[in-house]
Amino acid sequence: MNVIRAKTAGFCMGVSLALKKLDTALLEAAPRANRVCTLGPIIHNPQVLEEYEAKGVVCADDATQLLPGDHVLIRAHGLSSQEEDAVRAAAGNVVDATCPRVKKAQLAIGKATKDGAVLLLFGEANHPEVRGLVSYARGPAHVFGNLEEFERLRLTKDPVFVLASQTTQDRRHFMEIKKMLCKRFERLTVLSTICDATRHRQKEARDIASSVDVMVIVGGRQSGNTRRLADIAALSGIEIFHVETPDELDPKRFTEKTRAGLTAGASTPKRLIDATELWLSTL
Ligand code: SF4
Repeated sequence: MNVIRAKTAGFCMGVSLALKKLDTALLEAAPRANRVCTLGPIIHNPQVLEEYEAKGVVCADDATQLLPGDHVLIRAHGLSSQEEDAVRAAAGNVVDATCPRVKKAQLAIGKATKDGAVLLLFGEANHPEVRGLVSYARGPAHVFGNLEEFERLRLTKDPVFVLASQTTQDRRHFMEIKKMLCKRFERLTVLSTICDATRHRQKEARDIASSVDVMVIVGGRQSGNTRRLADIAALSGIEIFHVETPDELDPKRFTEKTRAGLTAGASTPKRLIDATELWLSTL
């Protein structure tokens, strides 16, 4: 099998930074035998999380599970401002591992809505990053995942609006939404909060998908950016497989294929992408 591997596949800057901070926290906490904790998973990749769990990292569900001596890392996709306050009150040693681009989006939303503007956020309502972004809004906030959901929102008449996006959303969809809302609302501020790493990764996935007859996307099933890569690749009409590890692939599904594309989400470790490339290339 001829394999075309995306250059952008694997850890983004935000994930690499967060894991580096987690490694440092493990080293610093070891002499005093303090716990190292995260509130919710630090990134959305189960294989990486298992590795850190084996090293002793505790994934707490909420701040009530934290102890004063804990070293706590704020995850890459951020916390809500209320959760962050609760973490800082509960634990003595807090390291902010929020990706700088997510932090920038949080602060931009806070600033743009400071006079009570209504936030319109394009994203997955249940995604932790989205809950974090919404918490920075100083006025009312609405989350929508597509135009149909937007049309169902109950918006008050004539307010000032701020449009922003989850950092890993599909840029093309966001541009369509922006165009539509700019025509509809006179007083609309648009924030560019989709990160460049996501944009490049999505573009490369689209390009590769148009030149292969099957595509494999490696990454956590809970990872929103990985799921969107799979959606984007599927638009080209080829067969796609979203897997967490190459063991999930079935060689029988590749018998008629000669050229496979390979990409991965922002939280997928290189070793899993390498293993998948090897699996495909030995077919
Ligand atoms: S995808 Fe972008 S915003 Fe999200 S963690 Fe990575 S660099 Fe940060």
